[in-house]
Amino acid sequence: MKYFKEKEFVCRCCGELPPVARENIVALVENVLDPARERFGKPIIVNSGYRCPKHNKEVGGVANSQHLRGEAADVRCTDNKRLAEIIEQNGKYDQLIIYPTFLHVSWKRSGVNRRAKLWSR
Ligand SMILES: [Zn+2]
Repeated sequence: MKYFKEKEFVCRCCGELPPVARENIVALVENVLDPARERFGKPIIVNSGYRCPKHNKEVGGVANSQHLRGEAADVRCTDNKRLAEIIEQNGKYDQLIIYPTFLHVSWKRSGVNRRAKLWSR
């Protein structure tokens, strides 16, 4: 966790970050976000990290959202397109979903990381 702090990933409604979700967030940062931030060279803002089930419902997240496990974060910066390229080139991610104003990126500590790049409206 070089460029990010744990508190940036706590649930936006209740401030929670359960232990397993915390471990997953650390893995997401160390494998995906820190290396991307290093290459990008400018701040990355975390819109959303871990979500408790209640908050996930409130924001319209899918039922099995990786946010529920701390495996995903929504982030933004001054050049989301460039940041997406960097993440793709680094090659370590599970899902990378490019939204108009932010990127959703995830990482799994176990199983296969799919390197799935998608666009969403
Ligand atoms: Zn919450």
